[in-house]
Amino acid sequence: MPVDATLPYDDQNIFAKILRGEIPARRVYEDDFALAFPDINPQAPNHILVIPKGAYVSWDDFSARGSEAEIAGFVRAVGTVAREAGLVTSGYRLLANTGPDSHQEVPHLHVHILAGRKLGPMLAR
Ligand code: 5GP
Repeated sequence: MPVDATLPYDDQNIFAKILRGEIPARRVYEDDFALAFPDINPQAPNHILVIPKGAYVSWDDFSARGSEAEIAGFVRAVGTVAREAGLVTSGYRLLANTGPDSHQEVPHLHVHILAGRKLGPMLAR
């Protein structure tokens, strides 16, 4: 079910549970600002999700309310995860769905890192 990204943060969402360790995920990267783990339903050979540690519903919420340190830390973490996964030379795509038209399903900001094959045009035609 796509989510309404204007709703208040729901701390029972699945990524909040992963952050708290209540649901397992293979932690491929973690620092003070971000956690990264593989997507459970990968859409490409490499499909990693990077989430901020703070309680933010979406890119909209994070860009409006996140502190300078959180935003800088998160952006650096996304780059680090892709770099450490060896994806820079062949290339990768970042995706951050926000709200119903984007089909955002989990109401905790996440950036998808997609790579490992020719990803084709940006959107399905
Ligand atoms: P969205 O559509 O919100 O941008 O993406 C949500 C993503 O979260 C989907 O690609 C979905 O496969 C992934 N996902 C949903 N539940 C879980 C889970 O419990 N663990 C992991 N690792 N990924 C999940």
